[in-house]
Amino acid sequence: MTTIDNFNFAGKKAFVRVDFNVPLDENFNITDDTRIRAAMPTLKKIIADGGRLIIASHMGRPKKNPDPKYSLKYILAHVSEKLGVEVKFADDCLKAQDAVAALKDGEALLLENVRFYAEEEGKPRGIEKDDPAYDAAKKELKAAQKEFAKTLAAYADVYVNDAFGTAHRKHGTTAVMADYFDADHKMFGYLMSKEVNAVDKVMNSIVHPFTAIMGGSKVSTKIEIIENLLTKVDNLILCGGMTYTFKKAMGGTIGQSLCEDDKLELALDIMKKAKENNVNLLLAIDSVVADDFSPNANTQVVASDAIPEGWEGLDIGPKTIELFKEAIVNSKTILWNGPCGVFEMDKFAVGSKAIADAICEATKNGAYSLIGGGDSVACINKFGLADQVSYVSTGGGALLEAIEGKVLPGIAAVQG
Ligand code: AMP
Repeated sequence: MTTIDNFNFAGKKAFVRVDFNVPLDENFNITDDTRIRAAMPTLKKIIADGGRLIIASHMGRPKKNPDPKYSLKYILAHVSEKLGVEVKFADDCLKAQDAVAALKDGEALLLENVRFYAEEEGKPRGIEKDDPAYDAAKKELKAAQKEFAKTLAAYADVYVNDAFGTAHRKHGTTAVMADYFDADHKMFGYLMSKEVNAVDKVMNSIVHPFTAIMGGSKVSTKIEIIENLLTKVDNLILCGGMTYTFKKAMGGTIGQSLCEDDKLELALDIMKKAKENNVNLLLAIDSVVADDFSPNANTQVVASDAIPEGWEGLDIGPKTIELFKEAIVNSKTILWNGPCGVFEMDKFAVGSKAIADAICEATKNGAYSLIGGGDSVACINKFGLADQVSYVSTGGGALLEAIEGKVLPGIAAVQG
């Protein structure tokens, strides 16, 4: 497969799909430029080679064309500053032929939000899914999506996908467009390569023992991931709010702790499957319980299956920390998705911090550790430990779908 490192972009027009969907405040100032910075290695390599850079991204969920509050013109100056060259702007992504033709070697052009066109997402606008006309409209739009992708593909000699955050979507610029380039002229950017490599390390090229830590609030949102992981891991740590659905299913008392009463059978089924697959399933044995969902609540440590009435489990207790730590520090591959407690309140962040520390220790001893999916990323950042793990994924939904075992269209389109 062609890689960005072994491709010389000199004199070539490169269409790079990035994820510049950054948050803006009410005055259109960027409040977090992580995604822009994350794409810079790829963009800078192309400029340094003397390539002609065409940058495409979505922002937000525009419903019309144009939808000014989602214009990429607000981020143009910042992109120029980070890239170190003055980036030009095409205010209609589908009518940028002249701007593309005017590009010289080492110059860059940012296209207006590709989602201004419904063809990008391939989802009909202004028509509800239950409308009888929806299916026909969708079919028509899918055909138009091919034309849209073809028009954009005609801008460039080479296609680079560096937008892992949208890799789980079969959109015009994230997947469909790749069909118009042969295998020697489509590739992942650096960010995408790192993400694909990270997914491979926990899904395919696994070094055992492999421990996955799944936390968060509910088991129902993690079923597919848990089921897929049961075929791969040695240790599965289930923590956070979902703990109490398991404890109740096993006959414990859980006070006011979070519980999905319609998932009790599912919890027992997961436990059975773990046993069948020789997976060591670890659940909390003690909990920090509180008499209120508040940072000022009274707390005590009790057994996780004997929580008094009026109290709720909001973090793992000290015995559980030791139990989980032991499994983590002896692992060679670690995946962490979802906090062990209500980490947003310092009082209930102790367990998640201990887990993060154990992951860092294992990483120092040679383990591969991947942190991904929403809140565990916020968690590792809160503790200032992101640089002490192997990789922190930038793609929430995309990473979750990948660890559910799904093929991501954005990856498949480039890999062929
Ligand atoms: P999720 O989006 O499912 O990954 O859940 C993340 C959320 O789960 C975070 O906001 C945590 O505060 C919350 N959480 C973790 N442990 C608990 C718990 N024991 N009870 C209630 N919420 C929890």
